[in-house]
Amino acid sequence: MILSLTHDAAVAELRRRGVTVPRATALYRAFFQNGSFDFSNLSEFAGEAGEAARCSALVARPSGQIVDQREAGGVLKFVTALEDGARIESVLIPGPGRDTLCISSQVGCRRACRFCATGQMGWVRDLRVDEMVGQAFFARFDLGRPVKNVVFMGMGEPLDNLDAVLQAIAVLTDQRGLNIARGRITLSTAGQAEGLRRLASRHPGNLGLAVSLNTASDALRNELMPINREFPLSRLKTELKAYPLGPKGVFFIEYVLLAGVNDSPQAARQVVEFLEGLPVRINLIAYNPGGSAPFATPTPAVVRRFRDELALGGLFVRLRPARGGDLQAACGQLGGGRV
Ligand code: SF4
Repeated sequence: MILSLTHDAAVAELRRRGVTVPRATALYRAFFQNGSFDFSNLSEFAGEAGEAARCSALVARPSGQIVDQREAGGVLKFVTALEDGARIESVLIPGPGRDTLCISSQVGCRRACRFCATGQMGWVRDLRVDEMVGQAFFARFDLGRPVKNVVFMGMGEPLDNLDAVLQAIAVLTDQRGLNIARGRITLSTAGQAEGLRRLASRHPGNLGLAVSLNTASDALRNELMPINREFPLSRLKTELKAYPLGPKGVFFIEYVLLAGVNDSPQAARQVVEFLEGLPVRINLIAYNPGGSAPFATPTPAVVRRFRDELALGGLFVRLRPARGGDLQAACGQLGGGRV
């Protein structure tokens, strides 16, 4: 129960169940800051072992558990089995002084991007708030990896599960809980324009926003990312232009280069044209081969040529290493619940 609630909501709920406010506050802190379910050593429960045990039972251990994990080059992929048997994947990516956790928001995904292993699974169900927050909780307390950055870039399209994702963010950022800064949380979308509009109307604050673009041609995007048939590039751009980024805000544009598909200089010039007038930073990632998708990695020379063409068009581009490729843990490669 507690994993889906902010401090204030948890205290209100625990009060309804007969727990005093000081005890509810103390146990919320102990749970999220120490991963503790045993409240008997908290001063608020001194001499009240029975009440401490009752509160432990009320809070309960998060449902689900890590059933598989593998690390390569510092990148750790872990698989969580949920209470209904569904499996989700999360990835911890090390950075200077801070780990980034890539969280899944759905079991499977209905958007069926052709280069994405999750997309090939189809949609199974949305994740609940506690199942999303649980990924950060397990990373911190079961794997001992304090999480400072979160990207909703794992399995699923987060804007297709927006209400639960926003509540999960409220819990993740609660200062009396996991206390992850809002500015260190990024939502990644395949271009779910309706969700972008809803997100804009919900005062998203300083959340980061990443858009997986991969081509600025509607014809090609219709093939690679079927979501484009519902929300074509013109609609996507309209929503991006209307989106209330803060004064320093930029959109992150993710572009996975697929050899011979979207990696030509002409494709780069289309991207420059499409992004004109939008504050963006582009993350360019060479495709990681694997799974059953019929794509290949472009050569380093082709990748550099594409990057240079974007830079020539005045765009800020970063060439991102496809970290975790050998774990099937890189962009677009989660899915299947195996390590
Ligand atoms: S890339 Fe994202 S939106 Fe597309 S199928 Fe995969 S998980 Fe879904």
